[in-house]
Amino acid sequence: MRVLLVGGGGREHALALGLIRDPGVEGLVAAPGNPGIASVAEVREVDACDPAAVAGLAVEVGADLVVIGPEAPLVAGVADAVRAKGVAAFGPSAEAARLEGSKTFAKEVMTAAGVPTARAHTCTDAESTARALDEFGAPYVVKNDGLAAGKGVVVTEDRAAALRHAQDCGRVVVEEYLAGPEVSLFVVTDGEAALPLLPAQDFKRVGDGDSGPNTGGMGAYAPLPWAPPGLVDEVMADVVHPTLAELRRRGTPFAGLLYVGLALTAAGPRVIEFNARFGDPETQVVLALLETPLAGLLHAAATGTLATHPPLRWRDGAAVTVVVAADGYPASPHTGDVITGAERAGIIHAGTARRAADGALLSAGGRVLCGTATGPDLAAARDAAYALVRGVELAGSHHRTDIAAAAVEGRIAVPG
Ligand code: AMP
Repeated sequence: MRVLLVGGGGREHALALGLIRDPGVEGLVAAPGNPGIASVAEVREVDACDPAAVAGLAVEVGADLVVIGPEAPLVAGVADAVRAKGVAAFGPSAEAARLEGSKTFAKEVMTAAGVPTARAHTCTDAESTARALDEFGAPYVVKNDGLAAGKGVVVTEDRAAALRHAQDCGRVVVEEYLAGPEVSLFVVTDGEAALPLLPAQDFKRVGDGDSGPNTGGMGAYAPLPWAPPGLVDEVMADVVHPTLAELRRRGTPFAGLLYVGLALTAAGPRVIEFNARFGDPETQVVLALLETPLAGLLHAAATGTLATHPPLRWRDGAAVTVVVAADGYPASPHTGDVITGAERAGIIHAGTARRAADGALLSAGGRVLCGTATGPDLAAARDAAYALVRGVELAGSHHRTDIAAAAVEGRIAVPG
């Protein structure tokens, strides 16, 4: 099978590593890729959000499968354009990707499907926003209604800051605060059949102890030793299958990766958000543990044959990833600095570039790279991931020092 992978971040580097491990993959092309991906795949230039350009490239490289990593190309209709050329695409249609692209649409689907989630109001002016904030009380949760690359959410005790964020966004969803540990569950689906991957946890806030602003994600680990038994079955029955059924009923079936972000509250699991693609950086840890050949799995989802796919196989042990972020991230990341010590297995590139003059590796984004490691248990995987990160030098960079620490120390409790 020849595979075209669309995207160029840490998630796509992790996907590339998974795809080349699949013995069924004869060739991997990535567009636009990044320097890490370039060491395992042929890299081509493309505007990932241009449906015609991606579909044309898929035909040109003879792809049997196109895997679309990021959300923006999905919302732009890249999967539709690829399928229109007769090439299998892993990723939902633009219509179905609205599950991520519009928070209001996601809430409508959840309500129609009876999926447990936070109560919410869509607001477009200061008055209705203030009313919604006061109805739910602090901590206040205000979400940009459009695509925000995971960064459009403010959770704050400060009512004025909540109002300011609403004003900056224009159209927002104000919702009730959900208290409880968070879980990311990835589900591979062809629109009807659905296979859950291992639950993972990511770390959204920039600083240790969940301090500071939200980011795209500063680290992750899997599996979750503290997760209640039966959690995945419960989420499949109460969230995933009703949501997929509702989207089929609307004539816009969701095929691809359904990312369910949950809070495990005292009242049970509640959906915080849906995404229409693999999460970054949870993908790095989940795929590090997946033994089942990845391309075969994604191809089955892309071709409607997931019902006959064999059960997934997983490695024993655990995986941890720690993100190294650029100076100034998330507010105003500094780029163009030289990185050393990144040429090692387990370093996954996110925002990196090569300097044309001498090939030196440079920072080129807020989240620059991550150290990903597996181990026989979470403590060992954590030590190995931090050893990788300590070997990387990048002026002014920062990383959290507490990724997976609470889980290793048994400090996470599910309420109720
Ligand atoms: P989202 O982009 O919707 O995933 O939100 C980003 C992060 O904000 C989540 O991972 C949560 O940590 C937090 N968050 C979002 N919605 C809520 C909520 N209703 N209650 C508590 N935390 C939330």
